[in-house]
Amino acid sequence: MALLITDDCINCDVCEPECPNQAISLGPVIYQIDPKRCTECVGHFDEPQCVQVCPVACIPVDPEHIESKESLWDKYRRLQAAGTPQERGADTAL
Ligand code: SF4
Ligand code: SF4
Repeated sequence: MALLITDDCINCDVCEPECPNQAISLGPVIYQIDPKRCTECVGHFDEPQCVQVCPVACIPVDPEHIESKESLWDKYRRLQAAGTPQERGADTAL
């Protein structure tokens, strides 16, 4: 599953640097999660790091992006092979 930031977000900036997949960025109004990059922290941590640090508990599972553990591992492996957006030098679609 990818996670989702709701409009309860207070733009505290705490979650963005904690994401091991660079899936979190500041959107037009609040922070947002790129479902193509969120593995629910599978491959990196036992628990979603953004959920751990969010002070207002506004990061639920995204019902539009329900995925099995297996597909999350596949996504993790794809991301590892592709490198970070910075390494690729562009926001290339995966
Ligand atoms: S669950 Fe993990 S991978 Fe997904 S946005 Fe949060 S910190 Fe990033
Ligand atoms: S930690 Fe929570 S409140 Fe803070 S920017 Fe992230 S989603 Fe928003």
